[in-house]
Amino acid sequence: MPEPPKLLEYVGVIHIHTTDSDGTKTHDKIISIAQKYHLDFIMFSDHKTLQNKSKEGWHDRTLVIVGYEHEDSDGKSHYLIFGLDEPLPADLAPREYVHRVRQAGGLGIIAHPDEKRHFPKHPPLPWTDWSVREFDGIEIWNHMSAWLEGIAEGNKLKYLLNPRALLISPPEETLKHWDKLAQKRRILGIASADAHGYRQKIIGPIWRTIFPYRVELRSMRTHILLKEPLSKDFAEAQKQVFTALKRCKVFMSNYRWGDATGFRFWAETPQRYAIVGDRISLHKRLRIFVESPLEARIRLIRNGELFTEVEGKKAIFASTKPGAYRVELYRNGKGWIFSNHISVVENEYRNYRKPHTKNKSSHIKEQKSGRQKGRRNVRQTKNK
Ligand SMILES: [Zn+2]
Ligand SMILES: [Zn+2]
Repeated sequence: MPEPPKLLEYVGVIHIHTTDSDGTKTHDKIISIAQKYHLDFIMFSDHKTLQNKSKEGWHDRTLVIVGYEHEDSDGKSHYLIFGLDEPLPADLAPREYVHRVRQAGGLGIIAHPDEKRHFPKHPPLPWTDWSVREFDGIEIWNHMSAWLEGIAEGNKLKYLLNPRALLISPPEETLKHWDKLAQKRRILGIASADAHGYRQKIIGPIWRTIFPYRVELRSMRTHILLKEPLSKDFAEAQKQVFTALKRCKVFMSNYRWGDATGFRFWAETPQRYAIVGDRISLHKRLRIFVESPLEARIRLIRNGELFTEVEGKKAIFASTKPGAYRVELYRNGKGWIFSNHISVVENEYRNYRKPHTKNKSSHIKEQKSGRQKGRRNVRQTKNK
């Protein structure tokens, strides 16, 4: 059994608006709040502008990345775009902007995909074209959408005064969507603040900032796991963050219910070790491990269905079934941690077969059968 890699964890907040679009604070003010909360990285995404791209870089120990939020001509299909120097043209269809980000080597994440709200003045802004394929990820849990969806006349005051109270769990529909996609390919899931620092009239002349940035930066967080520390060079560090996100070395948490730092989710067989985002071959001695920094209800989800659940800080699950596995941790009935997937496949080599010429084909076949024989031998020896 190979030694498990020592992983470094970086905690960030993704999807933040500033005064460049409809947010209420400047980049500098928000960066100083992020520093105060010791966030390792933050990712800005104002609507349709990159005018303050120069703000990106290392700000003390906080990595600041400036992307933007694109939308279609109807104002729907919001797409978080990172790694581009200029915004894309405004008149493109979702298929086209998703494709262009992929071609440019950027990072693209579908924002609030299944949003539903019931305000005539603020209609929902869902994703409209699910035939597109080239996006890297989906926002699984969007703070702003959760709040707008949950608020109703009867409970309005409660949620105006306590905007984090509605964050119970991600929308069922989005989780289903994500789990379905994860059975076919690697697909990133993030938690997103969609921070604006909105101000709202409460009663008469009383106004309140319902989502102060200091609250928004202590709610929906995205944690990434790296084998190497983030580079001091900004371009290199940004690349490390994008790669970790694209490879789903990620879990999300709601800081409101506890600091999730230190959470781990991995799988082992006698030969292999897989961390979140990885793929591993099915094996009769496959074990799935979970470690939590706090007591929680640990739910193992396979292909979108509850596989099994336990209470505690540690869990070891055995499984003999292939599928896209992830875990959800709940504290006092509230969703706290949601991991990305580990893919358990019948034979991981089958999925990495490359196109090759006729001559090489027989050579590769020989190699493959040799390896399979070898693997069988290992198993037989172990069984003795
Ligand atoms: Zn949006
Ligand atoms: Zn937004």
